Amino acid sequence: MSKVSEAEVRAEVREWLAANWDPDMPLVEWRSKLADSGWGMPQWPTEWYGRGLPHALARVVEEEFANVGAVRAASSGVRLLAAATLLEHGSDQQKKKFLRRILTGEDTWCQFFSEPGSGSDLAGATTRADLKGDFWIVNGQKVWTTSAHHADHGLLLARTDWDAPKHEGLSYFVINLKQPGVDVQPLKQMNGHASFNQVFFTDAKVPKENLVGSVGDGWKVAMTTLAHERRGVDAMSALPRSGSPKGRIYLEERAETQKANQPYTWYPQRAGRVDLIIDRAKETGANKDPRRQSRRASLRPRTYADYGHRRDAHRPRKPARRNHRRNSGLGARRFHRRRHRRNPAQHHRRACPRATERTPVRHRPIPKRAKELRARGVVRCLTKSR
Ligand SMILES: Cc1cc2nc3c(=O)[nH]c(=O)nc-3n(C[C@H](O)[C@H](O)[C@H](O)COP(=O)(O)OP(=O)(O)OC[C@H]3O[C@@H](n4cnc5c(N)ncnc54)[C@H](O)[C@@H]3O)c2cc1C
Repeated sequence: MSKVSEAEVRAEVREWLAANWDPDMPLVEWRSKLADSGWGMPQWPTEWYGRGLPHALARVVEEEFANVGAVRAASSGVRLLAAATLLEHGSDQQKKKFLRRILTGEDTWCQFFSEPGSGSDLAGATTRADLKGDFWIVNGQKVWTTSAHHADHGLLLARTDWDAPKHEGLSYFVINLKQPGVDVQPLKQMNGHASFNQVFFTDAKVPKENLVGSVGDGWKVAMTTLAHERRGVDAMSALPRSGSPKGRIYLEERAETQKANQPYTWYPQRAGRVDLIIDRAKETGANKDPRRQSRRASLRPRTYADYGHRRDAHRPRKPARRNHRRNSGLGARRFHRRRHRRNPAQHHRRACPRATERTPVRHRPIPKRAKELRARGVVRCLTKSR
């Protein structure tokens, strides 16, 4: 797109929304319009459902959508990671096949990277893909796969060359999960939820054209996916929408969000909700198991005893006393001077009791001689409070 100004983009998107936005439209129909017009992902290239706008102007589009309360292109889960990876490394055929349905939200995606023996050591993946005729035949196991239980496609990292150095023997595929060779099993956590899955591939088939990049490019393509994951992909942050969300489209969007967020209700390591474990253990009776008790104990909040103050172990933890001067690291004189310079009135303030509680001012008896001096006008006031 040639250079356009913010005002032009704003005017154009406003006009388009005025002509097209209808909250009673079915969700997929609306998102199809977004894909066709390029307003769903305005920062994507014009030939692939975008308008080629820089990110700063895409933000302007987002603001205009929020102003009228319009629903945006689908963005939950791994789908935008898939889109970003395909935009960079995918063939035109792959972009045509997958991108549009990513934007409309018709397809859900997951990421098949981690394996039981290769989590942090991702390049050590041993799930294999062997080319037979027009298909890659996949065998192996993946683990910790979020959303695999309802995903349509997966981003799969598999070994295609066993003789090459480990980073060079990997290839990257798009695998269809709705086939007999894919067995998805939810991994039930001790809190009763299943946030992840383990997935077994037994002679699962991947058509040749679903190889992303070239054979052996798996590591490079996977790094693209992870880079986008780290920077939060190209999903636009959700600006609060104005207007009341009434209409069919909002109901459908809410149902979609609930489904997508279900695995995130209990994300054990990342959310770290150890505070809820005890209640859950009591509910399930797991609190009686001594092994689990000791595990739970290791998760309790830290106390004095944990920091080696053994003799204080029986005492409840006291809040630390504030000693501003000692904490300041300054000597008494410098500390005084600094405080004085900042606000002398406050610094020299004394606690002032309420009027009723004040000690009454007592006058000293005025000596005779002083009375004389006052009478002569030598001294004006002879009272002095104690
Ligand atoms: C909430 C959540 C969601 C996830 N979703 C997905 C998903 O959808 N798809 C997917 O593919 N994966 C997913 N993962 C997996 C994740 O991204 C990591 O790849 C995986 O958790 C790490 O592998 P591991 O658990 O087997 O740990 P390991 O690799 O076994 O590591 C265990 C410990 O050893 C340390 N360690 C490992 N190697 C070294 C080393 N060389 N030097 C020093 N220390 C080392 C690690 O830091 C860690 O503390 C998810 C993980 C979490 C927590």
